[in-house]
Amino acid sequence: ASPLAPSSDEALPLPQVLYGSGPGARANSVGVDLACLAMRAPLDAAVATTHLSTLSMHSAADADAAMQRLHAGFDAWSARPLAERAALLRKAADLLEARLPAYCGLLVKEAHKTLGDTVAEVREAVDFCRYYADQAEARLMDQPLPGPTGESNLLRLHGRGVFVCISPWNFPLAIFAGQVVAALVAGNTVAAKPAEQTPLVAQHFVALLHEVGVPQDAVALLHGLGETVGAALVAHPLTAGVCFTGSTQVARLINRTLAAKDGPIVPLIAETGGLNAMVVDSTALPEQVVDAVVQSAFRSAGQRCSALRLLCVHEGIADGVIEMLRGAMAELRVGDPAELATDVGPLIDDEAFTAIGAQVRRLRGEAKLLGETPVRSSFPRLLAPIAFEIGRIAELKTEIFGPVLHVVRWGGDVNEVVRQINALGYGLTLGVQTRIDSRAQRIADTARIGNVYVNRNMIGAVVGVQPFGGEGLSGTGPKAGGPHYLYRFCAEQTVTVNTAAAGG
Ligand code: NAD
Repeated sequence: ASPLAPSSDEALPLPQVLYGSGPGARANSVGVDLACLAMRAPLDAAVATTHLSTLSMHSAADADAAMQRLHAGFDAWSARPLAERAALLRKAADLLEARLPAYCGLLVKEAHKTLGDTVAEVREAVDFCRYYADQAEARLMDQPLPGPTGESNLLRLHGRGVFVCISPWNFPLAIFAGQVVAALVAGNTVAAKPAEQTPLVAQHFVALLHEVGVPQDAVALLHGLGETVGAALVAHPLTAGVCFTGSTQVARLINRTLAAKDGPIVPLIAETGGLNAMVVDSTALPEQVVDAVVQSAFRSAGQRCSALRLLCVHEGIADGVIEMLRGAMAELRVGDPAELATDVGPLIDDEAFTAIGAQVRRLRGEAKLLGETPVRSSFPRLLAPIAFEIGRIAELKTEIFGPVLHVVRWGGDVNEVVRQINALGYGLTLGVQTRIDSRAQRIADTARIGNVYVNRNMIGAVVGVQPFGGEGLSGTGPKAGGPHYLYRFCAEQTVTVNTAAAGG
C-alpha cells in the first residue's frame, strides 16, 4: 500500500480559494493560508509521520526501455474514449484531495515548503486534474466543419505518441501533475521526469494514477539527472513531444537537441524563468504596494518563477515605500517550514544556498542595501529576505531564484520604464500599482508579458482563472491552466468525405 494512503479517505474541510482577492482568499502577510488552521491537526500529523525514503535513479537504458513500453501502449490508450480518459482524471482528483494532508507532509519534507504553500499546491494539482478533464471533453471532441454541398468535413484531435514531461522542483506536485494529466487526457502516453530534488512526491502521484486505472504502459516515472535521463528522453527517436518547465538555459538545450534530431519534427512546450518587475507610479497606495511586494518577492523564499525581482518605484513616493518595506521585512518570520507561523522557509538545497549566497555577497559589494530580515532560527539553508537598490533596470541580468529584491527609482515617462522592462527579454509576470485606470490599461497593452497583475500581488495562477505562462525568454506558451493548453498536446486531422460519390 502507498504510504500516502490514509486509513480513511474521509473528506477534510478544505479551503476552496487560496490565492487572489476572491471571497475565499484569506492569507496573512506572506500567505500562510489561514484556512489551514481548520486542518492543522491532520497536517501536523502528516508532517510528523512522513519519512523520506530514497529512490534510486534511472539510467539512460531505463529511459529507452520505458519509451519502448510507452510507445507500445500508445494505440490502446489513445483509442480509449475521451470520456473514459477524463473520468480517470476526475478519480485521480478525488483521491488526491482525500489524501491532501499526506501530500502536504511530503511536500514539507521533500521540497521544504511552508504548510500554507503545500495546501495551495495540492489544491492546484487537484484543480489541474478536474480542469483538464472538463477542457478535454469541451474542446477535443470531433468537430464538424461547414463545407460545400456534397462534402462533409470533420476536424479531429488526437494524441501524438509518447510525450516527455520534464518538471522543476519548485512546484514538484502541481507542475508535475499538470503536465502529465494534460498530456494523458489529450491521448498521449507519458514519460514523466521530475526534478532530481523531488522524486518522491512525483512517484506517489504516478502511483495514484495507476491506482485509479491509468495503465502502466500509459504513464511511467523516470527519475534521474537531467543531463542523463532527461537528455536521453528528449533525444529519443520515439519522443513525439516535449513539455518542459524549468530554467531558460535548459529549455535552450532541449530546443537544440530537438532541432538536431533526425526523424519527425516534434513540438516543444517550454515554460521557463522570469525577470519579473512591478511598476509603481506616484499615485499608488504605499501600504498596498508594500503588501504586494512582500508577498510577491519573498513568499516561498522567492523560489517561484513568478516572483517579483525588480521593483520600479516612482521617485516621488520611493522613500516612503522603501521605509515601509524595511519595516515589513523586519517582521517576516524566517524558519522551519513545518511551523504554521513561518512566512519564509529554507532554500531547496545546499547548492542553491551556496550559489544564491554568493550572489547576495556580490550585491552587498555593488549595490545599496535597503533592508534585510533578521533570521533567528537555526533551521538549515535559511536565506534572509533582502532588498538592494540598483541604478538602472538594465543592470538586472539573471534570475536569482531566492528572496532577493532589486529596487530602482524612476521619474519621467512610465512608457519608458515599460520599454526597458520589455528590453530585458523575459515576459512572465508584471505588477502594476497605480490609481489611474487608463495608465494600468496602457501598460498592459504595451508590456510583452504573459501575466499582468494590477493593484495586487503577483502570486496568481489559479487554474482556469489566471492561466499562467510567459513569452520571449520566459517560454513558448500556451498557458497552463488555460483553455488553449491541451491543443498543443494534440495532432490535428481533417477527414473530408465526398458524400456525392458512391458509398458517400
Ligand atoms: P532546471 O532547468 O535546472 O531543471 C528543470 C528540469 O529539467 C529538471 O527535471 C532537470 O532534471 C531537467 N534537466 C536539466 N538538464 C536537462 C537536460 N540537459 N535535458 C533534459 N532535462 C534536463 O530548473 P529547476 O532548477 O528545477 O527549476 C527552477 C527554474 O524553473 C527557474 O528558472 C524557474 O523560473 C523555472 N520555472 C518556471 C515556471 C514557469 O511556469 N514558467 C514554473 C516553475 C519554475
